[in-house]
Amino acid sequence: LLEVSHLFKSFGGRDGLFRAGRRARVVNDVGFTIGRGETFGLVGESGSGKSTIGRTILRLLEPDSGEILFDGQDIAGLSRGDLRRLRRRMQIVFQDPFSSLDPRVRVGEVLAEPIRLHGLREGAAIEARVDELLETVGLAPHHKTRWPHEFSGGQRQRIAIARALAVEPDLIVCDEAVSALDVSIQAQVLNLLARLRDDLGVSYLFISHDMSVVRHIADRVGVLYAGRLVETGPVGAVFDRPSHPYTRMLLAATP
Ligand code: ATP
Ligand code: MG
Repeated sequence: LLEVSHLFKSFGGRDGLFRAGRRARVVNDVGFTIGRGETFGLVGESGSGKSTIGRTILRLLEPDSGEILFDGQDIAGLSRGDLRRLRRRMQIVFQDPFSSLDPRVRVGEVLAEPIRLHGLREGAAIEARVDELLETVGLAPHHKTRWPHEFSGGQRQRIAIARALAVEPDLIVCDEAVSALDVSIQAQVLNLLARLRDDLGVSYLFISHDMSVVRHIADRVGVLYAGRLVETGPVGAVFDRPSHPYTRMLLAATP
C-alpha cells in the first residue's frame, strides 16, 4: 500500500539557527513499506524524526528527496484534485485529539463534516453513518449532540478515530495516539484499532516511543535513531533478537 524509499528531510537553512549553508538533517535515507491491513510501528527516542516522517507521508511536509508511493502512485507532483483524493485515503490521529477538535462543534457535526466534504453520503444517510461510526468506536448515538469538552481523554481519542474512519481511509498514521491515555484506556483504544484493522483492513503507521505498545499492536517495526532506520523487521525478531546496538539499548531502557 505504501512504499517509502530514500526519504530525506532537513530543516533550517542559510539564515536559520544553523551555520551558513548547513541544514539540520532530520530524516536521513529512510525507507520502508506497509502492506494492506498491516501495522508498521515506528519507534525511536524523542527528536529522532518520527513525526516528521508521518507528516511527510501525509504530504503535510515536502521531503527534500525520496519517493513515496501510495497504492503505486507517486504522491509528489499530484494535481490538486488527486491530492484531495489522496488526503481522504490517508488520515492521522494525534496524541491529543482535543487540540484538533473544535470546541464549538458538536460531535455529530465533527463526524458529518468530512462525510459531506468528500461527498460520501447525502441527506439522511449522513446521519445514519454518524450513528454507525459512533457505534464502531463504542459510543452511543446520543453522544452526537454533545460537545468535545464533555468527553474524557479516552472518549475523545475514540471520536478522533471515528473522524478518521468517516472518510473510509486505507491508511491511518497514529502519532503517539495512545501515549496520553492511562494504561487501561490505552488497552481499550489499542484493541479498537486492532479490531478496525481486522474488520476493515485498515493499515497503520503506528508511531510511538513506547516499545510495549508497539509490540502489542505492530506486525513489523522500524527503529529510528537520529533520522536513520537502524533496524527493520517483524516485531518478534526485532524485540527478542535485536541486531543493532541502539535497539538493544532502547529495549534495555524499557521497563
Ligand atoms: P517526539 O517523540 O518528541 O515526538 P519525534 O521523533 O516525533 O519526537 P520530530 O518531531 O520528527 O521528532 O522532530 C525531529 C527533529 O526535527 C527535532 O530535532 C525537531 O526539533 C526538528 N523539527 C521538527 N519540525 C521542525 C520544523 N518545522 N522546523 C524546524 N525543525 C523541526
Ligand atoms: Mg513526534
